[in-house]
Amino acid sequence: MSGCEHAVEYVYQYIDDELTFWRRLRIRLHLKRCGHCTSAVEFERTLKARIAESGKSEPPPELFDTLRALIRQERNTGDSGR
Ligand SMILES: [Zn+2]
Repeated sequence: MSGCEHAVEYVYQYIDDELTFWRRLRIRLHLKRCGHCTSAVEFERTLKARIAESGKSEPPPELFDTLRALIRQERNTGDSGR
């Protein structure tokens, strides 16, 4: 899907509230028609919530393995538009 490769990069900033209003708007529009990126956002949100829940303790290493695998997956599927 076109726009995915950009959206995936912004998704992580989007969750961290680091984007400008217009970029957030663009991502929101993209998420509306792209279940692929929506699931990435949901995954990230769950991940962040879990890290927040665990408080100051270090997140378990398998969390990062899952995250890395997901990012790799996102990159691979997003490459088609380049
Ligand atoms: Zn997408």
